[in-house]
Amino acid sequence: MNAMKKTDSEYREKLSDIEYQVARKAATEKPFSGRFWDHWDNGDYVCVCCGTPLFSSDSKFDAGCGWPSYSTPKDGNSIAEIKDQSHNMMRTEVRCVNCDAHLGHVFDDGPKPSGLRYCINSASLEFKSNDSEEIKKSSAQEK
Ligand SMILES: [Zn+2]
Repeated sequence: MNAMKKTDSEYREKLSDIEYQVARKAATEKPFSGRFWDHWDNGDYVCVCCGTPLFSSDSKFDAGCGWPSYSTPKDGNSIAEIKDQSHNMMRTEVRCVNCDAHLGHVFDDGPKPSGLRYCINSASLEFKSNDSEEIKKSSAQEK
């Protein structure tokens, strides 16, 4: 058994309602409603379902669209891109490779050099700060 994979009811228990609807049911959170569209700390954004690192704060930019936007994934191998023709639009959906969580969509109107904009739901992400308490403590002791 793959310990990273969970059943639907396990996800329902672990995740908040909006996290479950977005990550497991491919819903989209309202713009400017999520926890990360205006969040600029240094660190990694990981999958809310399985903890896989997906995006780094280094590639995050303000697209003005109300969702967290990234120019590149942290590791291209952790993201699956799937053609999505729902809502009469040709879009590319992005998912977590490890657990199949819906993350958002990728568009080709992003900043150079990638030219890509990964438009991701905050509800599909968790943030892991680079400035952990331990690092802060050890640098304080050196002074
Ligand atoms: Zn995942």
